[in-house]
Amino acid sequence: MRDPHEVEFMRMRNHFPNPITALALFTFLLALAALALGQSSTPASSCDNCPVWNKPQQPFRIYGNTYYVGPRGLTSILLTSKAGHVLIDGALPESVPQVVANIRSLGFRIEDVKLIVNSHVHFDHGGGIAGLQRLSGAKVAASPWSAEVLTKSGVGKGDPQFGVISPVALVPRADALQDGQTLRVGDIRLTAHFTPGHTPGGTSWTWKSCEKGRCLNLVYSDSMTPVSSDNFRFSDSREYPTAVQDFEKSFAFLRSARCDILLTSHPEASGLWQRLERRQRGVRPDPVVSPNACKELAGRAAEQLRRRLESEKGR
Ligand SMILES: [Zn+2]
Repeated sequence: MRDPHEVEFMRMRNHFPNPITALALFTFLLALAALALGQSSTPASSCDNCPVWNKPQQPFRIYGNTYYVGPRGLTSILLTSKAGHVLIDGALPESVPQVVANIRSLGFRIEDVKLIVNSHVHFDHGGGIAGLQRLSGAKVAASPWSAEVLTKSGVGKGDPQFGVISPVALVPRADALQDGQTLRVGDIRLTAHFTPGHTPGGTSWTWKSCEKGRCLNLVYSDSMTPVSSDNFRFSDSREYPTAVQDFEKSFAFLRSARCDILLTSHPEASGLWQRLERRQRGVRPDPVVSPNACKELAGRAAEQLRRRLESEKGR
């Protein structure tokens, strides 16, 4: 029997004897079919920006046992040890296959990730955690505010982007951390620093990595940007009354942190791609190492907040 679509097409062809019109129609139908197939076989993207953020990125060693395993636009960091690994941030839900493949192509296994932590629980950094946790069986640990969001609500009241941000996929369990707490996996020592403001639960991370006996201080800074829904005010929010104080605390952390290499949840916030490109061109000393970067980020972030508060005075 003939495929009903083909019969339908033949009937239409009889209707439009002009071969050019028929060809145009055929092309159009093919495009429609391709679109329908595409939609059913690939997961829908989480946001307009997501396809750009989720562009593939070759994983690479940052320094010592620290590796970049995220997609091009959203950082995910792997810290390795002989007794298991740590993952910081999981990018988007649709980034999970890429993060797993990146870990594997470096010669490590997602199954050996023992601990997953995060910067802040927005879907672009925390969205992939649930999927990565399932694949690894890793423990998840987060600030108390973030742990609550990750296990219960997906998005937190008091979040400046509450109402406009998509929720993160929930994990069955997340241990609540204390500010300044150091977590251990093998010989990895990873310290949590609460850096709220962008969200009330924001967390930055510090650790040391060594190469040939030279140990450097690495800082993974959470987002420091005052982004919000249209009607949120950082200056006098009822849902998040300590927003400005919180930002000041976070900037103070960045100013005082021992910081040889700065990494940020969005790689461009610390100029990672330019630094990497210069490293690959053979520029020495290594441009990825940049001891002023934390202070400079604190300066830019403080200026952004100042402008934001200024703009709130007029509304
Ligand atoms: Zn965010």
